Amino acid sequence: MAREPRPREPHLVALAAAMSGSVDLDAVTKRYGSETVVAGVSLVIPEGEFFTLLGPSGSGKTTTLSMLAGFVVPDEGRVLLGGQDMTRVPPRGRGLGMVFQNYAIFPHLNVAENVAFPLTVKGASKAEIKARVAEALAMVKLTGFETRYARQLSGGQQQRVALARAIVGHPKVVLMDEPLGALDKNLRYHMQVEIKEIQQRLGMTVIYVTHDQEEALTMSDRIAIMNHGRIAQMGPPREVYENPESSFVASFLGEANLVKVRRDGETVRGPGGAPLVAARGALSANEGLVFVRPEKVKVAAGTAELRPNHLPGQVLHASFLGNIMRYAVSAADGATFFCDVANGAGTEIHRAGDAVTLSWRAEDSRLLGS
Ligand code: ADP
Ligand code: MG
Repeated sequence: MAREPRPREPHLVALAAAMSGSVDLDAVTKRYGSETVVAGVSLVIPEGEFFTLLGPSGSGKTTTLSMLAGFVVPDEGRVLLGGQDMTRVPPRGRGLGMVFQNYAIFPHLNVAENVAFPLTVKGASKAEIKARVAEALAMVKLTGFETRYARQLSGGQQQRVALARAIVGHPKVVLMDEPLGALDKNLRYHMQVEIKEIQQRLGMTVIYVTHDQEEALTMSDRIAIMNHGRIAQMGPPREVYENPESSFVASFLGEANLVKVRRDGETVRGPGGAPLVAARGALSANEGLVFVRPEKVKVAAGTAELRPNHLPGQVLHASFLGNIMRYAVSAADGATFFCDVANGAGTEIHRAGDAVTLSWRAEDSRLLGS
């Protein structure tokens, strides 16, 4: 095997490392007065990943992103970009692209001048600016809009200009803080697809902030769910959706049935003492919760014999939502389950008052300590 060549010029190696798009947060903490708003967050994000910080308002997403950007200096911990310690490097020394929700485009500059801004600041040549701006505008599908001003653009077009401005310098890493927050649903979806496409084409690392769980699920390679300045859970969309480790993550990422259970010797019992078997999780005490998503619960007419993960119930509400029926079903001990059933060909429809049996597979449920 060939030996790795020894680096003769360590500073050049360092420079090369800084040009990779990996992003690390090493036990980063930020306090404002007595409040700890980011509490020892660690992240290792490889180059080219679409990584999302998802969480409720006030959970510390923007503060985390601001520490990556250099607008906020952490009280503890380190920020590494391309493996280099950037904790104390000011924003313009970090070479990042940024799109912020309230980081509007400059009203006194036209589209081309807005997009050119990061290059103009760096003192790039006129020829380079012209070529790069044309390329960036083509990417966000705004060729021909060069001489317009913000007031002559729709919200979606302004957001595209902001996106073009973020990518014009070919950054390895782009930070986006709720970039689509102000757009309506259809336009959001459109822009989600476009951002994803551009990210993949350019191979950029994107650190994306949103409080919209659907947006996080569709766009991300991995999601970190934040709560009170900490990462509650982190993983690929499907994993965090299907295997939440806490009731917070379960209910933040969509609809969740979280129903009280208790331990009875070796058996876990749910409403009415029904025996339950879950493939994952465990009860840390004698009581806890069982988690199962509404689309994983089967609803069958009639009352079945007592078997694990089968519960008798009565339909409280049957809502027609087009492609699905959403049932609210009452079970024993005052428990209510929500069940989403696809309106496929020949699917049986239940009505309020019907006696039904709910069931689910052990592998679709999880026990949670709380
Ligand atoms: P998110 O983006 O998840 O909504 P933020 O990171 O903006 O959350 O804020 C997290 C917490 O930190 C909030 O309670 C917020 O009020 C507080 N906070 C953020 N910036 C400051 C600041 N400059 N001074 C004092 N408190 C701040
Ligand atoms: Mg925020």
